[in-house]
Amino acid sequence: MMLPTHALAGMLLALPYALAVPEFAGVALVAGFLGGVVPDLDMYIGHRKTLHYPVYYSVLAVAAVPVTVLHPSAEPIAALFFLIGAAVHSVADIFGGGLELRPWEATSNRAVFDHRRSRWIAPRHWVRYDGAPEDLLLSVALAGPLLIALGGVPRLLAIGSLAVAAVYSVVRRALPAIADRLVGLLLDFDSAKRIVALVPARYLDGSGEQLSSNTVDE
Ligand SMILES: [Zn+2]
Repeated sequence: MMLPTHALAGMLLALPYALAVPEFAGVALVAGFLGGVVPDLDMYIGHRKTLHYPVYYSVLAVAAVPVTVLHPSAEPIAALFFLIGAAVHSVADIFGGGLELRPWEATSNRAVFDHRRSRWIAPRHWVRYDGAPEDLLLSVALAGPLLIALGGVPRLLAIGSLAVAAVYSVVRRALPAIADRLVGLLLDFDSAKRIVALVPARYLDGSGEQLSSNTVDE
């Protein structure tokens, strides 16, 4: 699933608490948003492995519940909703596409790394690929309650996420061709070859392939 879908899911999971405890609404919603976003910061360094922990985030989120109940202050609340957002993100990626340049071709058997069992979990393809029409539909559905219930910064975050989701969905299937063309252009410059060599193999197609052998990606 695409990043905005995860961000909106993280916020929506914090919404009931935000409505029930307005004093900490902002903390919970922003923490949920960040929990949805942060796992994908591993995009270029072991994507869906370095910052994706489907088991451990979930365990920590459960463990954080009693702490938050006993100490309902900003820090534990932020930690709890961050962990919930990150856990749901990491688990939800299992139900999307695999790690490949064109995930709609469904050729990869890697969705998310399970650190506990030291193995990759296979993609389920309920959402065929990030940015698929059903992914956009999911973003719209998740954003609906947020836009109805929220104002201020959280509302802006939801609107911004939805806007990114819409644009990303429109351009998603063109991205591999654009990336390949960009790599082709960069290869005309010696200094740029070193940069291209750092790009994960799954972002390259054709012209960049032989340079990607020392990639840091999984
Ligand atoms: Zn992810």
